[in-house]
Amino acid sequence: MVKFDNRDKAFALELKSRVNKCLADNGKTQFADTAMYIKIVFWLASWAITYGLILFWDMPGWGKVLLAIAHAFTHLFIAFNISHDANHQSISTNPMVNRILSYTLDLIGVNSYLWRVAHNKEHHGFINVEGIDSNVNGYGLVRFAPWDPKKSTFQYQNLYALFAYAIATFNYVTVKDFRIMLNAYKAGEKIPFAAILELVIFKVFYYGYAFVLPMIFLPYSFGQIFLTFLLCHVILGISLTMVFLCGHLTEGAHFPTIDNEKIAEPWAVHVVKTTNDFAVNSPVFTWFVGAINIHIIHHLYPTICHTHYKLLSPVIAQTIEDFGYKYNQIPTFTEAIISHFKYLKEMGKAA
Ligand SMILES: [Zn+2]
Repeated sequence: MVKFDNRDKAFALELKSRVNKCLADNGKTQFADTAMYIKIVFWLASWAITYGLILFWDMPGWGKVLLAIAHAFTHLFIAFNISHDANHQSISTNPMVNRILSYTLDLIGVNSYLWRVAHNKEHHGFINVEGIDSNVNGYGLVRFAPWDPKKSTFQYQNLYALFAYAIATFNYVTVKDFRIMLNAYKAGEKIPFAAILELVIFKVFYYGYAFVLPMIFLPYSFGQIFLTFLLCHVILGISLTMVFLCGHLTEGAHFPTIDNEKIAEPWAVHVVKTTNDFAVNSPVFTWFVGAINIHIIHHLYPTICHTHYKLLSPVIAQTIEDFGYKYNQIPTFTEAIISHFKYLKEMGKAA
């Protein structure tokens, strides 16, 4: 198992003490504040209301498609604003509250147990580390990492990558969860029976409200409902992927050298080198994406609720600079997207 060289603790300790002081000075704990609880109620209510309107508001077909897209966006914002925090246990001191809210991910079709393994252990523990971080796996479709084999088709990847991103969430809710579960079973990994049961129950629930209820209550064919479902996932897949990829895979992305299962730097330094903040000064964007754009602090302290990131971000940036490291920041989301595609072009060129 790959290990970091954590002997030099100075940076991590100083970060921790400044972050704790900032929270205390502002009368905050690491957990949810009122702003967060308002967000939870707002997004869950938006999910329910938009869904109810699709089924029961009498309007033309194109209006239903627009409503379906609006409803799909509530899935995205539930994932960013509620599920992500809950699965990192950053909402409440009561583990039960985090556990219940973590099921918001299952509500939108993704198994929270498997997501916690891939996101919390693999991605958070080992950003951009070969063979561990599944976020840099391009599945042979795109070349994200320097260790990926070279192919001549990759020289066009900056042009076609969007098509791959478009199927990301569709893949997640249809085959990916089942495939991960099956692979884990084949590899002899221990999967709690409750996780398997939850996978089945929530997938039935998800397809029930995505297909069965619309088939019963709406005058549309399965094909029309499926196409709307697909369109929603194309929009979701691209939106979700862009936000997540802009945090780690932009120009100059860092991939640590592993020597004899060791990475020769402390974990906190590794986080700072492999992670970007972007659009930090856009309060509206930050509100919608659950502050995932203020990504360095999220990786350093995933158990701090995201509504505190804006407050803590200058403290993190200052500490990084005080220790002589580079604070990776891209001013806007548009510039971060452009930087990601330039990165793709660069990675494809090497082929
Ligand atoms: Zn995370």
